[in-house]
Amino acid sequence: MFRESGEKMKLGVMGGTFNPIHNAHLATAEFIRDKYDLDKVVFIPTGDPPHKKNVLDKKHRYNMVVLSTFKNDDFFVSDFEITSDSNNTYTVDTLKHLEETYPNEELYFITGSDAVNQMESWKDFQENFKYAKFIAAIRPGIDLLETQENITRYRECYFADIDMVYVPSLEISSTYIRSRVKSQKSIKYLVPSRVEEYINKYNLYGGARG
Ligand code: ATP
Ligand code: MG
Repeated sequence: MFRESGEKMKLGVMGGTFNPIHNAHLATAEFIRDKYDLDKVVFIPTGDPPHKKNVLDKKHRYNMVVLSTFKNDDFFVSDFEITSDSNNTYTVDTLKHLEETYPNEELYFITGSDAVNQMESWKDFQENFKYAKFIAAIRPGIDLLETQENITRYRECYFADIDMVYVPSLEISSTYIRSRVKSQKSIKYLVPSRVEEYINKYNLYGGARG
C-alpha cells in the first residue's frame, strides 16, 4: 500500500516472547511508531521453543498480546510464529514472510538493546538487515557502550541500517512481572489491566493464593 503522497507505507515489527506482554513493550512500540511516522506496528509472539523450559503456552501469550492491543488501531497482532509448523521460528524467516505479505511496505524491526547485543547468534544474522531497518531501543540496565560498539560494527561490516534510540526508560521486564506474580505482589500499572485480569483468571505464573 502507498500513502497519498506516493510514499511507501511503514510497518513497525515488534517480535518477542511476551511472557507476558508489559507496558514497556507497548510504550516502546508507540514511541517508535510516533518517532518514525510508522503507519502500524505488528506484534509477533514467538512459538513455544522446545529448548526453552517454563515458557507459558503460546496461546495464553498470544491472547494477552491481543487483549493489550485490540483497542488501538495502530497496533495489530500476527499469529505467524505461533501457527508455524515449527515452534522454532527465526526472525529472518518472519521478516521474509512480512516482505512477501507486504511487498510495498518498508519494515522497521523494533527491538530492545539486549536483543541487539545478541543478534550475531541469530539465524542468518546478516540477512535480517536486507529485509528491515532496525531500531534499537535503549533498555535500562543494558551496557550502552557495548550496544554502541555492536551497532557500529553491524553498520560497517554488515551494511546494517540500524538506529539507536532513547525511549522513555521503563525498567520493566517479563521476568520481573512473573516474579512479582509468583510472590503475590501487585502488577497493576506494569501491565495493561486486561493482562492482569487474564493472569488472575487463568492463575498463570504460580501466583495463586492459599
Ligand atoms: P524476559 O524477561 O522474559 O526476557 P522481556 O521483558 O525481555 O522478557 P521479551 O518478550 O523478551 O520481553 O522482549 C521482546 C522485545 O521487547 C525485545 O526486543 C526486548 O528487548 C524488548 N523489550 C522488553 N522490555 C523492554 C524495555 N523495558 N525497554 C525496551 N525494550 C524492551
Ligand atoms: Mg527478553
